[in-house]
Amino acid sequence: MKVLKFGGTSVGTPESIQNVKNITLGQEGRKLLVLSAMSGVTNELVAISNLSKTQNYEQIEDIINKLQERHFSAIDSLIQDETLSKETKSFVAKRLEDLSAAGHKEYSDAVYAEIVTYGETMLTFMVSQYFKSQGIENIWLDAKAFMEVHNLENPDTDRVGELLDAHLEGQRADLYITQGFVCINKHNEISTLKRGGSDYTATILGAAVQASEVQIWTDIDGFHNNDPRHVEGTHPISELTFEEAAELAYFGAKILHPQTVSPVINKGIPIFLKNTFTPEKTGTKISSEVHSKGLKAIAAKDDITAIKIKSNRMLMAHGFLRKIFDVFDNYETSIDMITTSEIAISLTIDDTRNLDKILEELNAYGEITVDRNQSIVCIVGESVIEDHSTYKLFELLNDIPVRMISYGGSSNNISILVDTQNKIKTLRSLNQKLFSEGLTQLV
Ligand code: ADP
Ligand code: ASP
Ligand code: MG
Repeated sequence: MKVLKFGGTSVGTPESIQNVKNITLGQEGRKLLVLSAMSGVTNELVAISNLSKTQNYEQIEDIINKLQERHFSAIDSLIQDETLSKETKSFVAKRLEDLSAAGHKEYSDAVYAEIVTYGETMLTFMVSQYFKSQGIENIWLDAKAFMEVHNLENPDTDRVGELLDAHLEGQRADLYITQGFVCINKHNEISTLKRGGSDYTATILGAAVQASEVQIWTDIDGFHNNDPRHVEGTHPISELTFEEAAELAYFGAKILHPQTVSPVINKGIPIFLKNTFTPEKTGTKISSEVHSKGLKAIAAKDDITAIKIKSNRMLMAHGFLRKIFDVFDNYETSIDMITTSEIAISLTIDDTRNLDKILEELNAYGEITVDRNQSIVCIVGESVIEDHSTYKLFELLNDIPVRMISYGGSSNNISILVDTQNKIKTLRSLNQKLFSEGLTQLV
């Protein structure tokens, strides 16, 4: 079985949905398709969930009407068969009624999740019906029946596999179609894998069904060496290791949801990143194979908060760091970067939900300084710290104030912390210094 995930732009128009059909038909074997919502739809649904908090029902209905128009127009373009078309429209209309009702419910995390996941439900049903109208047999699966994710960082993929088997009740097909993004949490409520989560659905399901590979189809020809939204002249990388891709995704490369790689690493299931609009291009293969060492790519993660704890007491005394880390652990807040000196420790977090309580407890240990709106810029590659061209990284200090540097924690990653207002300048400057002025590839 292969898992093929198509993102929002890949299912955003009737034309791109035809590409999805061609790509699916062009491949041998059994397939499980994981689809996002049509591009922009999830943003509209998030807007609805915000409007529901302020009981702004008129605006909610306006958005719902537009969503109906967009989906109905796609159905008209894709499905000529009258019965299938009618069935599909009534399915979509029913979901939009439920959406409207959800907009009137008292706001909670579960109501938010219900609202924002309707886009995937409507789109997957539409594509399933379109395929049927083209004579392509398939089974539409409601992901809520098997995507049980109790721990977002560490889903039990075997359990998901068992639930999927039970849900199928022996029904077999060569093609299954299901929704990305949605899951059921430990309270047995509808939840999400966070924005961009369909990539993660694909690898969780890939691990659950022991897929031979996971393909992630998007609007760009693979993983680029830097963020193409901010830097000109970036290029796709044909091969990445699981570790390289995991670091880049975790540290902000938007092409992959931060957790995408983890479910498949131990099972050795390769991930291919491909462009739905130019499927002939090579794209990127992510696997355990190491093809080249040295610098591969740069990524940046925003919304980072840096915390410095400065103490006059013997800061590095035995047991001190444990006490500091315990504070973060008690609030289930993970730390990304750490640097220390004899009298101070600086660290970064991205989850600030419990920041006030954390700071209150840290106050007992010394003077605290907090810097918000920071970005981690991360330079990644197998054994990158052995790449002598990385000395150029430090030339950056000439142009841009750097708050922290983490070098040597892993041989595959060098991270620096800058103010977010300097992020783009940092990405461009590093691109120039590390890629344009001659990159050494250690082999
Ligand atoms: P999808 O909707 O298919 O999930 P996304 O918008 O989530 O697609 O991800 C693809 C986008 O990620 C690209 O269009 C590109 O702008 C952005 N991106 C950011 N960093 C990178 C990178 N290093 N390589 C490729 N694309 C990147
Ligand atoms: N539709 C969801 C989002 O926009 C999930 C995804 O596209 O991966 O975040
Ligand atoms: Mg995405």
